[in-house]
Amino acid sequence: MKDSFQREIHALRISVTDRCNMRCRYCVSGDLLKLKPQDELLSLDEIEAVIRAALVLDFDAFRFTGGEPLVREGLLDFLLRVSRLDGVRKLSLSTNGSMLERSLDQLAAARVQSLNISLDTLRPARYEQITRGGELGPVLGGIDAAANDGRFKIKLNAVLMNGFNDDELAELAALTISRPINLRFIEYMPFGSWQRVENENAKGLSVGEALARLKQVFEMDDNVRGPGGDGPATYAQIRGAKGFVGFISPVHSPFCERCNRLRLTADGQLKGCLLADERFQLRNWMRSASYNAEELIARIAMAVMAKPEKHEYARNFDMSTVGG
Ligand code: SAM
Repeated sequence: MKDSFQREIHALRISVTDRCNMRCRYCVSGDLLKLKPQDELLSLDEIEAVIRAALVLDFDAFRFTGGEPLVREGLLDFLLRVSRLDGVRKLSLSTNGSMLERSLDQLAAARVQSLNISLDTLRPARYEQITRGGELGPVLGGIDAAANDGRFKIKLNAVLMNGFNDDELAELAALTISRPINLRFIEYMPFGSWQRVENENAKGLSVGEALARLKQVFEMDDNVRGPGGDGPATYAQIRGAKGFVGFISPVHSPFCERCNRLRLTADGQLKGCLLADERFQLRNWMRSASYNAEELIARIAMAVMAKPEKHEYARNFDMSTVGG
């Protein structure tokens, strides 16, 4: 359906859990995740009810994120169930990749077409540092397995951090050369955790600057069509490479006028914008006697109409509480 700024909103990004086996510094501001009690998270049946209602409003693309979605018990069976609903065109998963290898067959069975995997660095010690203890090996193993598998479109996401991974831009981009893997650089967004990044310089590396640096190393064609999809990335390609290098610029060049999504947080709030304060709380109402499926459709439509024209920063919450 169209929102009040005539944008076609048809994608729902669903955080299925606030739990994660990593605690990336740009996503989580403290050493510990501030987890909601399990019963404050939507059950998978409740999430399915929201998806069914969204389908009535012609939503057709659903991305599952978190936290780490693959730590949510029952997720893979749930995805299979969702894939059978009429009107579902595209299912995608955002994951840190650490549990991916063992999940590939079930993801393919559920017709999950697109995997976004976080990969900010290729150095194990840095990986451990940015994720507060994560191990790079299983993540690279997951990426390899998914790429060799051939059933998925693979996008690796690297958050640009000056003074942390800006010396690895070429190495990361080179992952696109020999296999049809796409690597997207994302500008670091200022959430609550922004305040906590030890190195002030981590702020502010733009995708424009990243592309300029890459062009000093590779022959690149820019503004190419890329791997398709209707997301916010623009693409370039290293000449002769099988994959694409993408650029997502929420800070220096926001793409709000092309935004096509609504978000559902793990605890059942609808958000028109990642960075908006306004939230429509569904969970308590969905558990009350006044809940009915017709009104759920109306409440989703209301959240679409309340979607702000543009986003603002300086939000005092962490990405981990919304789902990226
Ligand atoms: N655990 C999954 C993962 O690692 O992809 C899904 C959740 S994670 C919050 C989704 C995406 O949000 C990741 O690609 C991550 O890099 C991105 N992200 C988190 N905090 C961010 C920030 N402050 N700026 C830019 N991207 C961020």
